[in-house]
Amino acid sequence: MPAFLENVEKFMNEAAYIVPTGRDDILARLEKPDRVLEFEIPVGDKKFPAWRVQHNNALGPYKGGIRFHPESNLDEVKALASLMTLKTSLMGLPFGGAKGAVRVDPKKLSERELEELSRGYVRAIWQEIGPQKDIPAPDVGTTPQIMDWMTDEYAKLTGRWEPAAFTGKSAAKGGSQGRDEATGFGGYIILREFMNFDPRDQGMRAAIQGFGNVGMHIAKILYERGFTIVAISDSKGGLYEEAGINIDKVSETKVRTGIIDRGTCYALSPHEPPCKTITGEALLELPVDILIPAALENQITGVNTPKIMAKVILEMANGPTTPEAEELLLKRGIQVLPDILVNGGGVAGSFLEWLQSSDGHYLSEEDVLRNIDEKMTQAFQRVIAVKEKYDTSWRLASYIKALERVAAAMK
Ligand code: NAD
Repeated sequence: MPAFLENVEKFMNEAAYIVPTGRDDILARLEKPDRVLEFEIPVGDKKFPAWRVQHNNALGPYKGGIRFHPESNLDEVKALASLMTLKTSLMGLPFGGAKGAVRVDPKKLSERELEELSRGYVRAIWQEIGPQKDIPAPDVGTTPQIMDWMTDEYAKLTGRWEPAAFTGKSAAKGGSQGRDEATGFGGYIILREFMNFDPRDQGMRAAIQGFGNVGMHIAKILYERGFTIVAISDSKGGLYEEAGINIDKVSETKVRTGIIDRGTCYALSPHEPPCKTITGEALLELPVDILIPAALENQITGVNTPKIMAKVILEMANGPTTPEAEELLLKRGIQVLPDILVNGGGVAGSFLEWLQSSDGHYLSEEDVLRNIDEKMTQAFQRVIAVKEKYDTSWRLASYIKALERVAAAMK
């Protein structure tokens, strides 16, 4: 399996080759994180390995999610932290990049153990984080409830109530309206802008891998706007319906029971039989217009790329396409809209939450989404300008633009 960290470095080097940062030491510094915190969190008689990687803070406080996943490792966290530096830069936000993780399967913990783990994470690093230092958020396997426990633990340790130290909190704990759907909504804005920019017959049939926070929200948003979602999947398997899945029904049971249930998956006509099942691998190879990886990294590789039939890949997940796969996709004329552009709505939403948590002045959901729409549209325009100037891929154009801003700040 190609190493995620090497992939990010490879893309960064290619971008810096086209538009040099002007000083060798800048790229060398971006290849290594500023700081790695490595620790273990005790819960009962077990200990879980954990990390916080602070990659770069030239543009502002470190910013990035915390992942709870059984296969998390330090290299993955470093890769994700680098992507955050590029993403916050591309989005024009006053943040740097960071990421955290715990190697744990959160589904195997009781609620009490999960709370202990979340509070333990903060106890290990509280002196290194804060509203002007490093602001964690949710990622794979972490939820608003977990961010609430973390915010609460941080207040106990510092003796101050500072909800701006975390984003992705529940509304009751100072979270923002619209933060839950921010990433999915931002992805939709990039797709909308792309379709306006390239108005060939793009088609509106989509398949979505991953049905967690990001996958479910983009599914709902596209479904509401008339797209046909022919397949969805999660870590346990997938569902497929040629006529299009009724996303409202599957989402409602997913939220209630935690699973995508074939029994609640119907085609758009209620008289149709239930959806068929499909494996996660087969979902990627369906003849759809838009393929949306919204789960984990390294899903589209040199091995399965020859079988991919989508016209556009909308990378909602971080790092789903390897460099080898990207090269093959581009040769076949498949458009790959990259993670640091497509999923930037999450951190744009977090930025608004950080502002609201800092001054206590809260925005309506409508205002939050309007603001995210504006930021995503502007980021897309910035990427187009670079893409046209250097005649390059969407990914390299995004990396070039991101590197330009962060390099200027580092200088
Ligand atoms: P999540 O934990 O809410 O959901 C992850 C989903 O992926 C789950 O449905 C899980 O079952 C599924 N999954 C895991 N392995 C799979 C596999 N092999 N095949 C199919 N599905 C699989 O996590 P999330 O927050 O939705 O994050 C998903 C991706 O989006 C990650 O790459 C994350 O880094 C990225 N992302 C998240 C945010 C955010 O705001 N949450 C922001 C930007 C990027």
